Amino acid sequence: MSTDYDLVIVGAGMVGASLALALAQSGLRIAVIERVARDQESQPSYDDRGIALSLSSQRIFSAMDVWSRLATVANPIKKVHVSDKGHFGKVRMDAASLRLDALGYVVIARELGGVLLSSLKEYENIDLICPASILEFTNTDKQYSLSIEADGKRKELNSRLLVAADGTHSDIRAQLGIQASEVDYQQTAIVSNVTAEFSHENTAFERFTEHGPLAVLPLAEKRAVVVQTVAAEQAEYFLGLTDEHYIEEIVNRFGRRLGSLQRIGKRQAYSIVQVQSDQQVANRAVLLGNAAHTIHPNGAQGFNLCLRDVAGLAEQIQQARESDVDIGSQMVLDAYFLSRKADQATVSRLAHGMGKWFYNTSLPKSLLRNTAMTALDIFAPAKTHLIRRGMGLSGRQPLAVRQSVL
Ligand SMILES: Cc1cc2nc3c(=O)[nH]c(=O)nc-3n(C[C@H](O)[C@H](O)[C@H](O)COP(=O)(O)OP(=O)(O)OC[C@H]3O[C@@H](n4cnc5c(N)ncnc54)[C@H](O)[C@@H]3O)c2cc1C
Repeated sequence: MSTDYDLVIVGAGMVGASLALALAQSGLRIAVIERVARDQESQPSYDDRGIALSLSSQRIFSAMDVWSRLATVANPIKKVHVSDKGHFGKVRMDAASLRLDALGYVVIARELGGVLLSSLKEYENIDLICPASILEFTNTDKQYSLSIEADGKRKELNSRLLVAADGTHSDIRAQLGIQASEVDYQQTAIVSNVTAEFSHENTAFERFTEHGPLAVLPLAEKRAVVVQTVAAEQAEYFLGLTDEHYIEEIVNRFGRRLGSLQRIGKRQAYSIVQVQSDQQVANRAVLLGNAAHTIHPNGAQGFNLCLRDVAGLAEQIQQARESDVDIGSQMVLDAYFLSRKADQATVSRLAHGMGKWFYNTSLPKSLLRNTAMTALDIFAPAKTHLIRRGMGLSGRQPLAVRQSVL
């Protein structure tokens, strides 16, 4: 016996779960298949990383009716301070000067996951099947047929559309025969949560140093997430330091603007790669999120970009449904990709540029960077443009994002 779905999403990480929620009210029958149980340490999407959400993400989550819950665990970013250690350049941004409540928000990935997965369970048209593994799948020009194993039993599912939201090293992408190109930056991001002596006043800091960039994202009270990017060959050294010495390293790079730091949480390391799949839509299948494009985390745009893709895909699917068009048809999938490719290309290019340029410590590059930062700080229209881009509000965007605030 097979169960028929309109849509099967593989991966209930940040992106897969968000797509199911974006379509929750559509009446479509949706299955979300997740390999790793939510509360397991090995759950790759929902760990202790702090995720900076842009205003575009806030709007999309509001449209999904999820923001009111997320707001209870999200901390606002009211100011942004970008600096270069030992140099003159600075860029400062302030929500109040733009008459905004916040420039963005920070949420711990695990808490984001808690809100998304518990929201999914409220919809009768969504089946979250977890933990489950895909044994095999085949497709015709009408549907996909999947065999999965869950609760020790084999189950058969049919679906008109298959969405692969299974992360950077997507198995589904490989099984669909879609190639992807990869850039290994030879950099490692080390993430830890600290408590500071002084209030961060809801400021997000990005500081470039001779050893690589360091970001400090504000959490509630005096807590903050520290993301330190180091050369891959130095990662072992930084991970092996005692908490006391690691804090010294952070203070060396960041300075004492938040006073002394303490109560460091577990350090987590992420190898930084860029992955771009050659194709994002194929016969009745869409690659979404990191499976479609994984970008450098400098600038904190990865998930924000993916969520705009989620909103774009949900919009096309809704429109198709309302017009009685097959949601898996090539016309619908092509319209989705066409609507998203410009934003994807711009953000990926920027993230790649930041990953390389801001890691570069040579004097000419450093001078150029500082001059550009100073010019940007003084020239208001350029700064507003940068803020709009950082908030995910520039260019052609899905309906859920389109509202003018600046
Ligand atoms: C250090 C770091 C900091 C970051 N900070 C930010 C930030 O501040 N702001 C921001 O916007 N972005 C940030 N990002 C990017 C963000 O983490 C990614 O964009 C996001 O995780 C992509 O989510 P995803 O659901 O596509 O993939 P993943 O998070 O990898 O989730 C994939 C899911 O699919 C499941 N899965 C995999 N294979 C299968 C299978 N065969 N069957 C079933 N399930 C499967 C996995 O278990 C997982 O749950 C950061 C990234 C890093 C590395």
